[in-house]
Amino acid sequence: MDMYNPDKGLFKHYVFEPGKPNSINGNTVLCITEDGQGKIWIGGYLQGINIIDKKTGIISGYKHDDKDIFSLSNDDVRDIMVEDSNTVWIATNGGGLNKFNPETGKFLHYLEGGENSIAGNWCLKLFEDRNGSIWIGTYSGLSIFDTENTSFLNFEKNTSPGSLCNGWIYSVAEDKTGNMWIGTANGLNYFDWDKREFSKFLSSDGLPNDVINGLLIDNENNLWLSTNKGISKYNPDSNSFKNYNESDGLQGNQFIHGSYFKGKDGKMFFGGINGLNMFYPDSILNNTFLPPVYLTDFLIYYKEVPIGTKNSPLKKSITESKKITLTHEQSVFTIKYAALNYTNPGKNQYKYKLIGFDKEWNIMGSRREATYTNLNPGTYTFKVIASNNDGYWNNNGTSILIEILPPWYKTIAFRTLIVLIIFSLIVGLYFFRISKLQQQKVQLENIVAERTCEIQEKNSMLLQQADELSEINTLLEENQQRIKQQAEGLAEANRLLEQRQQYIQEQTEELMAQKDELETVNDYLAELNSTKDKCFSIIAHDLKNPFNTILGFSELLSQNFVNLTEEKKQQFADIIFKASKNVFDLLENLLLWVRSQTNRIKFEPEIVELNHMVRENLTLLQETSHQKKIKVIFAHEKKFKVFCDRNMINIVIRNLLTNAIKFTSQEGTIRVEIQDEGDLVHTMISDTGIGIAPDEIEKLFRVDIHFTREGTGGEAGTGLGLILCKEYIVKNNGKIWVESEVGKGSTFHFTLPKSDKTS
Ligand code: ADP
Repeated sequence: MDMYNPDKGLFKHYVFEPGKPNSINGNTVLCITEDGQGKIWIGGYLQGINIIDKKTGIISGYKHDDKDIFSLSNDDVRDIMVEDSNTVWIATNGGGLNKFNPETGKFLHYLEGGENSIAGNWCLKLFEDRNGSIWIGTYSGLSIFDTENTSFLNFEKNTSPGSLCNGWIYSVAEDKTGNMWIGTANGLNYFDWDKREFSKFLSSDGLPNDVINGLLIDNENNLWLSTNKGISKYNPDSNSFKNYNESDGLQGNQFIHGSYFKGKDGKMFFGGINGLNMFYPDSILNNTFLPPVYLTDFLIYYKEVPIGTKNSPLKKSITESKKITLTHEQSVFTIKYAALNYTNPGKNQYKYKLIGFDKEWNIMGSRREATYTNLNPGTYTFKVIASNNDGYWNNNGTSILIEILPPWYKTIAFRTLIVLIIFSLIVGLYFFRISKLQQQKVQLENIVAERTCEIQEKNSMLLQQADELSEINTLLEENQQRIKQQAEGLAEANRLLEQRQQYIQEQTEELMAQKDELETVNDYLAELNSTKDKCFSIIAHDLKNPFNTILGFSELLSQNFVNLTEEKKQQFADIIFKASKNVFDLLENLLLWVRSQTNRIKFEPEIVELNHMVRENLTLLQETSHQKKIKVIFAHEKKFKVFCDRNMINIVIRNLLTNAIKFTSQEGTIRVEIQDEGDLVHTMISDTGIGIAPDEIEKLFRVDIHFTREGTGGEAGTGLGLILCKEYIVKNNGKIWVESEVGKGSTFHFTLPKSDKTS
């Protein structure tokens, strides 16, 4: 901070000296004010408040203390206003408004938040109006604080047309009539108390710039506004702005917000980025001299035009010339001009107009030349007017007549000649065309006469041809009639033929049906025949032998009964019994088979547990297998339920197991296995017996071939068992097959449908 003595023109410096007790708290001073007791209050960025006693030179201060709720709320102090010895108001940037009582040393805080609070905590400027209300400019709008009622009236920037033009309030002032003016970061506002609305003034209204950093009101009620582009004086009565810039002696064009002050004698101070301006507003006078305007130079294609030479449009200096005549090729020209005002000539303003071409004045600011290109031929008046540095306009200005000549092809003489030539060409063409048309007409008439003759000849020929055609037509019609009659006859014959064919078709179908029936009967008869053959062959071969045995031994027994020993008798009886059992087994199988062949066995499928059935049969045959010391293994994963005729499958299992035992030697092994195979259950009966040769395998399961062997224990066979097995398995929707190797053993496989699939 500096203290200026205007009498001596000297500055005294106050600087922050760390560690020194009697120094100010910082060097970024933002506000200064004097109280009634000759004390200077200063505030600044992060330095709180310092008070300098002018008489004693003692510097005291206040800063924020976290532990003391009655300390200054924030050290960034932007404005201080001393109301009386008990009340000092402090605007802080971040800590709202503070009310300080120097007697108690306590600070009261007014912070944003809740009802009836300040507009924002970031306060910039304080101003007390004539009613004692305090106006607080913040970064969030404007607050008017009624100190009596301690109530805040807040205004913010929003979209309504009567709102503040910006929320950053840099300056507040009250004019002589009590009107309030608010300078913001984007325009000047006038406050209408009745409507509680703001009206706006922006650079479009005449301000040099929209940032209003400082605002003071002089004794004539003019507003002095420091901006980022100089200082502006606003007269509310005439609603006019007059702007001053660096060329008028300002420290620079840019001023600092909040940095303004009016002395008691009316002297104004505005701080800017290069220093300070101070002035008495009434000492700034207007220059009313109306400057004369002169043309100073004339250029064609941006080149100086020599004066008085041959072909030069300038006969004398442009300043003295009243008229210039240019050819159309010289139509790119520049006129330079100047106003003779030597007080701040840089602020002289110019306007010009080319009458006959421009509709409006061209506003040039301080530029002093005008250029036109490619003007049409014609006569124009170039007029230029100027104002002095204070905006007083000499509206008479100066002017010059400019004539631009047309090119030769645009002259009236040339155009008349062209019109005449075109007219005579059109007339000539017209007559030429008329004579051509007449010639064509005569030619056409001749051609038409010739064509008429030809057409008449052709016409008579056509008439002749038409007669001939009509005769041919009559003949054709007769022929057509005849053909029609024949066609009717043919259609009748056709219908008869179709009926016949239909009849034949029916007969054929009937015959075919009879044929199918006959074939079925034939097949059946053939099968019966082979059954019968088999029966006869069995009876012939297999019944004969046992019966011979029975007859022979029973004869021996009956004739020699008395002479025979008890042992012999027993032996004969055993032989007879075995032979009879063989015959009986054979007959039983034969009967079963014949019954099945003649469809006399009923097929009654049901759900059957296969494991159980196998187990039952193994138990039945246990005795027989023990006799041959054969080991029996039954392997199965789980219980298998199949859908089959219980009796039939029982016979199959028993047959296959009997065969396995029959064709396996002493101490052999039989293995029964059941497996899951998708929708089927697969049963395998394996043995370690004699096996079957490949050519013999082919003979198994066949009705037409009779194949049987004796078992390893001399057991007799019928050769019917496997045939029965195949028939029953096929009837139960399964399959049966065998795998075997001679000397190693055989495996008989059969499949049956699962119960859950069929049920
Ligand atoms: P049978 O056993 O009464 O002769 P089958 O039709 O049951 O009549 O058998 C026909 C023949 O097939 C048997 O005589 C035998 O030669 C042969 N055969 C059947 N099962 C087996 C087996 N497990 N091992 C060896 N040969 C067998």
